[in-house]
Amino acid sequence: PDFDGGLIIRNGTTVEHVCRIVHRTLVDQFKYALVWGTSVKFSPQRVGLSHVLQNEDVICLHTYTSLNSYITTDDPHPRTSSNTTFATGEKLLSGHYESLDYECDESEIAHMEEKRLGYQHTRRIVVLKWLIMLLIGICTGLIAVFVDFTVKNLTKFKFSYVQNKLETCLSEHCLFKPYLAWIGINISMVLIAGLLILWEPVARGSGIPQVKCYLNGVAIPHVLRLKALIAKVLGVIFAVSGGLAVGKEGPMIHAGAIVAGGISQGKSTSLKFDLHILKYFRTDKHKRDFVSAGAAAGVAAAFGAPVGGVLFALEEGASFFNQQLTWFIFFASMTSTFTLNVVMSAIDGHFGDLSSPGLINFGLFKDTPYMWFELPLFIVVGCIGGIFGALFNQLNLRLTKFRHHYINKRWLLVIEVILVAATTVVVAFLLIIGTMYECRPIKTQLELNSPTIQLYCPDGQYNVMGTIVFSTPEQAVRNLFHSEIGTYYPWSLLVFCIIYFCLTCWTYGVIVSSGLFIPSLLIGASWGRLVGIVLHTLFPSNVKYFDPGKYALFGAASQLGGTMRMTISLAVILIEATGDIGLGLPIMIVLTVAKLTGDYFNEGFFDMHIALQSVPFLPWQSDIFAYQLSALNIMSAPVIQLKTVEKVENIYHILRTESHHGFPVVDHHTDETSNQRAGTFQGIILRHQLITMLRKRNFISLNDSLRDYLTMDDFRESYPRHPPIESIHLTNEERELYCDLRPYMHLAYTVSHSATLPRIFSMFRGLGLRHLVVVNDKNEVVGMITRKDLARFRMTHKKGHTSIEELAISH
Ligand code: ATP
Repeated sequence: PDFDGGLIIRNGTTVEHVCRIVHRTLVDQFKYALVWGTSVKFSPQRVGLSHVLQNEDVICLHTYTSLNSYITTDDPHPRTSSNTTFATGEKLLSGHYESLDYECDESEIAHMEEKRLGYQHTRRIVVLKWLIMLLIGICTGLIAVFVDFTVKNLTKFKFSYVQNKLETCLSEHCLFKPYLAWIGINISMVLIAGLLILWEPVARGSGIPQVKCYLNGVAIPHVLRLKALIAKVLGVIFAVSGGLAVGKEGPMIHAGAIVAGGISQGKSTSLKFDLHILKYFRTDKHKRDFVSAGAAAGVAAAFGAPVGGVLFALEEGASFFNQQLTWFIFFASMTSTFTLNVVMSAIDGHFGDLSSPGLINFGLFKDTPYMWFELPLFIVVGCIGGIFGALFNQLNLRLTKFRHHYINKRWLLVIEVILVAATTVVVAFLLIIGTMYECRPIKTQLELNSPTIQLYCPDGQYNVMGTIVFSTPEQAVRNLFHSEIGTYYPWSLLVFCIIYFCLTCWTYGVIVSSGLFIPSLLIGASWGRLVGIVLHTLFPSNVKYFDPGKYALFGAASQLGGTMRMTISLAVILIEATGDIGLGLPIMIVLTVAKLTGDYFNEGFFDMHIALQSVPFLPWQSDIFAYQLSALNIMSAPVIQLKTVEKVENIYHILRTESHHGFPVVDHHTDETSNQRAGTFQGIILRHQLITMLRKRNFISLNDSLRDYLTMDDFRESYPRHPPIESIHLTNEERELYCDLRPYMHLAYTVSHSATLPRIFSMFRGLGLRHLVVVNDKNEVVGMITRKDLARFRMTHKKGHTSIEELAISH
């Protein structure tokens, strides 16, 4: 009765499920739930357990009182209450995502293997890990080189072609020709990028949310496949070259993670080859460590920031960390930056000059001073970035929801991506045309080595907007950071900033592989520079301090921080990428303020997208209010369990009829009369282990004891794609035999039924659990908790009222 949270029952939920939820949430209200079912006058056949609620039956039971009102009402359609909340993507947890098992295997056969291999083996494993990290670093670095080299050349080809046409057409008054050529090239490139995503949808977007979920313990389908790598790398090349407002840095993180996942397993299921080495690493736990390193190596290559890579993995990516892993990750990041650096220096024709690492290079900020009186200004810049970042996230969220609802057919997605590509060109063209008389002397541009475009400018001068539009976003950011004072007109900057903000917001989420780092930097750099120009105009005597370039850097940092809500890693990435440790403190201030301001309004960009995909993601900590909930409130019961020596028929039947991935194993005290198993808890056995036992016919007769143990390698054989139970066919004789589960079951952690949610939460987060068995005082199994059960509970803050919301799990 004291339950005060919203309970959202999703459209399509069965009455049985509704009753189960209500029963579990409102202590002891099962009776009422049934009464409620009948009292709202469902016709008798509609109350049947298999009945599925119809569209209009989406109901929110806000409080026990409102439940009461349902019980007493005669209204057959009580759902029109003002409390009604419609379930959206964020209000649901998807049942499709399986969890990963990051716990150490504590089975008898695992112990036997460790004993057999001995201490020497442990040392060999460490050496092997270093070697794998080296390979991950090298391969990620090489992929980064490939991406950069291809993007640069495709962009160069495109712009030189359009630029030539533009310059000839200026005199011949045929401006539509370069315009059409530009649109044509961009649309073709973007279309290729889009088709690649239709081929492998997991490569859509930056990939950071997916990698983050994987490292958190959620198995995102296809996320580490070779197909995803191909779609990601080629996709980002065509998306960036096609002129979209996207960057290539985010996708590099996903690419690094895939490379790491592949190399560490010594096999490729897609290519159907197996080197038969590195079998030891074919577990979720080991693979996770390599994937963290791969993601960090991706950041390191993208920004030339090895320390930034480690910190990124720590702050944003990896949910589980330890000291040794930090060293491994650092090594992989360093190798990746180094590889990129060496190869790029050779490509650029000065082999051995390693002074410009990273895919992006912001150029050095030398001797840029700042004074104490600028500190309030840094805070203001941070606040602006926080607000703009939150606004960006909110708009993009709405757009993504709109897309989910209305642009969900393949042909619509393709049309949208074409539309975005065309709009980007039209807008760029209009920007150039609109500012065609804004000219500057060419000397400064030559120093910056950027493409210049003359348009209607006199000889020796160039069009300012042209340099932003006709260069890659990286070049544009660099120009904004380092151009001389007075290079840009404030109005042009403002218009550019607004337009680019809208374009980026629209672009992130269309079917291309795209990063958000560079577009955010570009938006921030343009309004930051504007702030610098204003300060410079207001206080002309302090020219030295109010440098627009410096404020462009702070604006960029602020926008990035306000969108992504990272502080430590972004600060280090920006310091490493600008090469100026002196500006470290202001950057940190700006980033922290931007994060705090943004957090006041909404969540970080990637967290929002994770929530939108209904992923059972576990945040760093459970909310303090969750002390109200105990294991009894969140567990599932009754639990489907197995005996230590279980009949093959029973195992087969359970696997065919239940979709769960873990089953507690209990000892033999079976009460045959009531068919209730009241045995004490012994361990947990996973679905794939049972399937392997059935597949390998690891059976015994009842009076027999197990002699032929399966080994750990037998279970790793089919990792990570275990065969389904449907692939197993058993004879009648085999079904009558038994399986001895004792050597294979994992001696898992248990929790008492009175444990609170925060305690259970920290066990899941700290130990990387997949299943947690709830036991009573007699060590009998009373319930089962999985990550979905935990992720279901969220704090909601509405109109100053905080409550716990329980999400439904969709099936
Ligand atoms: P995972 O998704 O982690 O691979 P799973 O498939 O075993 O694990 P979930 O899909 O998370 O489990 O479970 C969905 C619901 O089923 C949860 O509410 C969970 O508590 C419940 N559940 C899981 N295992 C059992 C079981 N052996 N018996 C009864 N309920 C279970």
